[in-house]
Amino acid sequence: MARTKRIVDEARQIDTAVELIQLGARLQVLEAATDMSYERLLRLYKEVAGKSPSKGQLPFSTDWFMTWQPNIHASLFLNIHEYLNKVAAMEEIDVVIKAYKLYMEQVGAQGIEPMLSITRAWRLVKFVDNGMLTLTKCSCCGGHFVTHPHEVARHFTCGLCNPPARAGKGRTAGALKRDAVAEESIDLRTELNADLQPDLQALAQTEALADDLDLADEALDIVHERVQVKKAQRERAALAATPSQPVRQIPVRKSATLEPTREDHALAAKYLAGLGRVRVDQRSA
Ligand SMILES: [Zn+2]
Repeated sequence: MARTKRIVDEARQIDTAVELIQLGARLQVLEAATDMSYERLLRLYKEVAGKSPSKGQLPFSTDWFMTWQPNIHASLFLNIHEYLNKVAAMEEIDVVIKAYKLYMEQVGAQGIEPMLSITRAWRLVKFVDNGMLTLTKCSCCGGHFVTHPHEVARHFTCGLCNPPARAGKGRTAGALKRDAVAEESIDLRTELNADLQPDLQALAQTEALADDLDLADEALDIVHERVQVKKAQRERAALAATPSQPVRQIPVRKSATLEPTREDHALAAKYLAGLGRVRVDQRSA
């Protein structure tokens, strides 16, 4: 009986470990959440995730949970977790897994990227168990938020009721958490769109310019063609004006000195003049 129980227990632990790996948990979480050996967990991790687990220490500080957006995500998760913890008789780790899945559903429904990893969620529950973090009721909206235990509830205002200056404007006090988170997401998207507007306009202008450039290119081609035709005409005209016989064909008269005659000079001059005209025409074209 004891042996059967152990096998069943192990099967259940493998299920839990697989679930955690699929949710992206670090190996340290699996080690803490199950009785399985490091080697078996490592093998299981590689089998399920298809890669080695990332190395490095788990975050030991509570600071991350105190920063503005992570605090809202952590609070959402912890509220779900506390609720499940009260109403459902489940293993500790299973409450974390179930609460984490519900948290993912909630943020997913709002179109928000989850900021809280399963590892951090598990860590948060540990911090709460150790009394390092707790939930404190916001004096403004009544929602429960992750805080240090020494927070005075009477004076505590949550990050949604009292967002940091950079977080956007127009948030109304007492707004529901989820609405506020959604609103924040819309604010961010609006800001992003506003940021992108000049670029989009520039892009449209560039596209229009490109169309113009295409037309200009065509026009340029036509002009270029005309220039070529004109050039050819001028060259032909220039050549027509030159003597039909080039210099080397100037008949060399066999004389003792080989001094060019007056006729030679005249022919050469005529030829050079023709050449000059062609060159001048090319330059002016
Ligand atoms: Zn509040």
